[in-house]
Amino acid sequence: MALRIFNVLGRELQDFTPITPGQVNMYVCGPTVYDHPHIGHAKNYITFDVVVRYLRASGYNVLYVQNITDVGHLLDTGEDRILRKAAQTQSKPMQIVETYTRIYFEMMDRLGVVRPDISPRASGHIPEQIKMIETLLRKGHAYVANGSVYFDVTTDPDYGKLSNRHVEEQESGTREAVRGEKRNPEDFALWKRADPEHILRWDSPWGEGFPGWHIECSAMAKKYLGDTFDIHGGGIDNIFPHNESEIAQSECANGVPFANYWMLVGSLTVDGIKMSKSLGNFITIEEALKRFRPEVIRTFMLSVHYSNPVDYTDEAMEAAARGWERLYNAVRLTRRAMNSAPAGSADGNAFLAAVESARRAFTDAMDDNFTTPKAIAVLQDFTREVNTLLNSGTTVGLDVLTEIDRAYTDLGGAILGIIPAAQAQGNSGSAQREAALIELLVQMRAQARAAKNWAESDRLRDALASVGVVLEDRPDGTVWKIVSNES
Ligand SMILES: [Zn+2]
Repeated sequence: MALRIFNVLGRELQDFTPITPGQVNMYVCGPTVYDHPHIGHAKNYITFDVVVRYLRASGYNVLYVQNITDVGHLLDTGEDRILRKAAQTQSKPMQIVETYTRIYFEMMDRLGVVRPDISPRASGHIPEQIKMIETLLRKGHAYVANGSVYFDVTTDPDYGKLSNRHVEEQESGTREAVRGEKRNPEDFALWKRADPEHILRWDSPWGEGFPGWHIECSAMAKKYLGDTFDIHGGGIDNIFPHNESEIAQSECANGVPFANYWMLVGSLTVDGIKMSKSLGNFITIEEALKRFRPEVIRTFMLSVHYSNPVDYTDEAMEAAARGWERLYNAVRLTRRAMNSAPAGSADGNAFLAAVESARRAFTDAMDDNFTTPKAIAVLQDFTREVNTLLNSGTTVGLDVLTEIDRAYTDLGGAILGIIPAAQAQGNSGSAQREAALIELLVQMRAQARAAKNWAESDRLRDALASVGVVLEDRPDGTVWKIVSNES
């Protein structure tokens, strides 16, 4: 089966055909950097991380651009989020931007999200945005009013094609003062005149001001990916007006289609309620990482299809943790068996067919619009078979074990990012460090047992059990398993 993507533009499942064979150019709307990233961001960016990882594993060369919004994203009240935060904390706006950009990348690194190839900042692309606004003015799609520039939605018959929202149905939440400048209440700002107290400001043909939020994505996508590119990603919450306006600006300015495939990620709720600071159910990625390891957060996010809404609850996270532990324990048992397995093939040879069929089922699930819940279910079924094999008493050859490990490493590791690599590389994550520390304690206990120091041996076993590591003494040595605390 070839890759198929549910295209939000047109609302149908379509075969994926990139513009240039073998090459995928992809743009994903990035964060507005004025606060700590939350678990809704985690869902969004883990989704596109897996999309990029899968496309690369499928042989595509991917150019992944994800912007940093550091100017122009206003609240409904017209207030600038970054300026408000700067005022609250007595900081310079660019200090806020720098602080939260760094935190954003740090959190993404901890979640194992591979960095985009290019992370352009809106504030670093003011000339490109001005140029595109000038083109829109020249082509009659925009007008100047009182030092601001607005896009005239009535000049674009396609406006509304992504969100299926049509101009006459829309309610305008725009402030009265601004509405007075607009020809139509639905028109949106391309450039805003800066009031005297507005610190983030640039010179322009229309006086000092700053760009509207939507224009940055159009200008930066054009700069790095061209007028037409393959995949545009984002969160469903931004389909209107942001994504809709991006399409309008780009297609009216460039005269060609903007993005061929639109992939939008469903929203995230906490205990069934939309996350908000005022409700006190706002969970940052940092807080989530204090309770759950990154692989568990990823497993949770990927256990629901990306286009569907997901509800973050303690129970769901604990279920994800148990599911992940089953996978990881089987991976470690496999790797452990590899240390003492006979080189040649033995009784386990027939198992190679099971490895092959797991790989095929996994690829089918991913090719079907990146259905990660199914892909994870494939790994779980495979794990049941692996456990049966390893506990069956048959002698499994190194070649079979290597194929099992390779399947876990390729599918669960390289693509889903939930299985740590066998060898610790540099500072690559806490799971390997933790495994190394547990191994050390298991060895110390083995030494205590050899010296018949039963008190010390029991003390080490109980200490490990108290942090959720259970030991099992087998004739060929001790194995350990991670189990969720029952509390
Ligand atoms: Zn955007």
